[in-house]
Amino acid sequence: MALRNEEMLLIPGPTPVVDSIYDALGQETRSHTDARFAAIYRSSIEKTREMLKTDGEVFVISGSGTLAMEMALINTVAPGEKVLVISQGYFGDRFIKLGEAFGYEVEVVQSEWGKQVQPLDVESILAGGSFKAVTITHADTSTGVAADLDALIPIIKKHGALVILDGVCATAAMEEDMSKSYGAANAKIDVLLTGSQKAIGVPPGLAIVAFNQTALVAREQLGRVPAYYTDIYNWIPIMHDPQKYFATPPVNLVYAYNEGMRLVLEEGMENRYQRHAAYGKAVRAALAVYGMNALAEENAAAATLSCILYPEGLDDVAFRTALAQKGLIVAGALAHLAGKAFRIGHMGNTTEDMLEKAIVLIGETLTELGFVVDVKAATEKFKEIAYVRAV
Ligand SMILES: *Cc1c(COP(=O)(O)O)cnc(C)c1O
Repeated sequence: MALRNEEMLLIPGPTPVVDSIYDALGQETRSHTDARFAAIYRSSIEKTREMLKTDGEVFVISGSGTLAMEMALINTVAPGEKVLVISQGYFGDRFIKLGEAFGYEVEVVQSEWGKQVQPLDVESILAGGSFKAVTITHADTSTGVAADLDALIPIIKKHGALVILDGVCATAAMEEDMSKSYGAANAKIDVLLTGSQKAIGVPPGLAIVAFNQTALVAREQLGRVPAYYTDIYNWIPIMHDPQKYFATPPVNLVYAYNEGMRLVLEEGMENRYQRHAAYGKAVRAALAVYGMNALAEENAAAATLSCILYPEGLDDVAFRTALAQKGLIVAGALAHLAGKAFRIGHMGNTTEDMLEKAIVLIGETLTELGFVVDVKAATEKFKEIAYVRAV
């Protein structure tokens, strides 16, 4: 894939945008009700449906991932109802804020940062009350911890709650199949929400949400919801016929998204899941050669991004500034980990070449900052793992 970017943007989103997506983005802006645009919008919605394997409703609208989080909650849970938030970091915690803003009764089960929530803890809270919905963050972008869907979804469904899955840093890279039963019969994802700018590899600006039939029944039972732009009933007619108007869609971003989704489906979901799993393992193993270890335990680590703890004596700002001067952008860590770790994205249209180069640049930077590291050994470790996968 051709790439005209001057920098390698290896943060947990936005992720590197390839030329064919920029080319799509730069096409002429047409009327949002033009039949030619409507055909592209329709096609992007169909591709989303195919990616998620859903027979429910799919929404692709202007907004960031946070808007998608709002849309998921406001259309399924009424003020005063109970929501359980399963949080494995900063973005899990964001659901607490949303739940409070919407007047829900919110309970939380949090893990220590870097670890997964224990399914037994979820079970005991759910047994203690009638919850309308439970939120799960598939890959928490602050910690690089992935949720164990096979363990969590059956417990949630056993207690009759809706499963709301935040896929903002996972969709198109870690398996999310709305037709699949996770871990037990009929244990399905009811609402999936995501954004355009992470593992899908499109510039930021689109909120993507899918509701299955169970979630649509929940919406119906709510009657009126305290929202207008994010009320799915205002969008269903547009998603069925994109020539209709409710609120102006971001025409050029939709062009870009349609191209991004074409690339996703062309590669194929299984290939993408394998590729990302290999990237995650390879990046973490290579950095471990430098004495830089991931916060997450390997069996709970996300395929899409890693939170890497600094070795003793390495300064966050000096390290990331030196990397930026070499054209590699990585992210700082959040909350209490700020200054103690950095985050590296390895998702979307990122390639083996880019990641291998990143391992070299990180090694060179460590050397410049006075650390003794073996760049060749780390690079070999990366290649050994990253390239062992079916293509
Ligand atoms: C990035 C992210 C969000 C927030 O998305 P925005 O597009 O920044 O609003 C929510 N959840 C997760 C898991 C994320 O990674």
